[in-house]
Amino acid sequence: MIKNYINGKLLEPVSEKYFDNYDPAIGEAYGIVPDSDERDVELAVAAAEAAFPAWAATPPDERSRIMFKIAELIKRDLAEFARAECIDNGKPLTLAKTVDIPRAIKNFEFFASAIHGFASESHNIEGEAVNYTLRNPIGIVGAISPWNLPLYLFTWKIAPALITGNCVIAKPSEITPMTAFLLSEACIEAGLPEGVLNIVHGYGHKVGKAITAHPKIKAITFTGGTKTGADIASVVAPMFKKLSLELGGKNPNIIFADANYEKMLSTTVMSSFRNQGEICLCGSRVFVEKPIYEKFKKDFVERTKALKIGDPLQNDTDQGAIVSKEHMEKVLGYIKLAQEEGGTVLCGGNQFIPEGRCDNGWFIEPTIIEGLAYNCRTNQEEIFGPVVTITPFETEEEVLMMANSTEYGLASIIWTENLSRAHRMAANIQTGIVWINCWMVRDLRTPFGGMKSSGVGREGGMEALRFFTEPKNVCVKL
Ligand code: NDP
Repeated sequence: MIKNYINGKLLEPVSEKYFDNYDPAIGEAYGIVPDSDERDVELAVAAAEAAFPAWAATPPDERSRIMFKIAELIKRDLAEFARAECIDNGKPLTLAKTVDIPRAIKNFEFFASAIHGFASESHNIEGEAVNYTLRNPIGIVGAISPWNLPLYLFTWKIAPALITGNCVIAKPSEITPMTAFLLSEACIEAGLPEGVLNIVHGYGHKVGKAITAHPKIKAITFTGGTKTGADIASVVAPMFKKLSLELGGKNPNIIFADANYEKMLSTTVMSSFRNQGEICLCGSRVFVEKPIYEKFKKDFVERTKALKIGDPLQNDTDQGAIVSKEHMEKVLGYIKLAQEEGGTVLCGGNQFIPEGRCDNGWFIEPTIIEGLAYNCRTNQEEIFGPVVTITPFETEEEVLMMANSTEYGLASIIWTENLSRAHRMAANIQTGIVWINCWMVRDLRTPFGGMKSSGVGREGGMEALRFFTEPKNVCVKL
């Protein structure tokens, strides 16, 4: 049974109500989640308020020590965390073991170290005055995260907020709350002082809303859908809270004929279907230069058909279950829409029913669609599943126009061996992140986030440390 983590204790929700937590691979409930509301958020705020003065005054070295300890405990229990993530989300266990949980560990370790390189600015007016900028913690901050990379994205927000001396009220997605619960147990064992981190489980429209609307929560960091981001912005803007939004994407994967073919092909299979395509950074629109279009199409379909879908607990599974029945139906609805819009399904296109223990689970065959206009709904709206479209192009200008045609601007992938073209494309493409001849290569020091409807602000490295601090300039007359 999952419990809230408030004031250092594991608590039942005030409502004493719970809802079911599903294992998407078997399509059945396997646990219960607190149905918390504004009363639990109120308790968490009171705890955070009481904890803040001491935590803000705790030397960074001590905060860092506790965070390294949390990282160490997750590392010790990596197998348990990975299994929990796999069961809760439906992702392959091997992925949770090698990507999700190691990255959550890294988030704590990275920010626990990064604080030591976080210097404040100083501006000298020669002979007259010197300015220095203090960077104080904001106070109580709210963190709300989605279901696709549950612990990975949850800790990406919590770690920089804590290391800069803030107290945090955090809500994981109600669809995938298990590893956030395990994290609360690790925080207790690591000796994180009471009230510094509070994790309140429940629905977005109750707990999420109560966090965003609470007057004592001074900043909100949110990762999730663009529509939810807009709702949150409308609540927090009149309250003048600091806001960081990491939202949806419809990322172009642009393949020029001179690409390193084998590297491009194997990476494109991953960037299309990894984590069932449920990564905001997946390249869901694949644009291929005409001379290699037919060859690429044949090879891409062949490699995709070879992916093994099924039981996420098995070591050789490439693609697991879709996170929920509702999401599976949404993705299948988009495949139907693509056909109505004139697209041809080259492979996949259907729900997949594995044999054995997962025969009631929510799976979709990896799907490739061609023959669609760049501006149809399938090519403009975020699907967030194992579905990609492929489209031929003739010139750089044409592909740039198509790539930039959506409301989104999160990430892009460009494959070419032509250095000048790579830089030219990177300069002109409207995305916050550009990968050239690679995908998902991450350096946690770099600014992370999207343009247009993909977000506001950047996270990662010093950007995150700046976001979670309030700059105060002090001018001293000489
Ligand atoms: P949602 O926007 O539905 O939910 C995200 C979180 O917000 C959940 O915890 C949700 O709770 C909560 N929430 C929902 N409504 C509100 C509200 N009114 N006020 C406050 N909180 C609320 O996103 P998904 O969980 O469906 O995640 C998928 C989306 O996340 C995709 O669009 C994807 O692109 C995006 N994403 C973006 C990333 C980026 O870095 N740019 C990275 C990963 C994902 P509940 O679960 O109860 O609804």
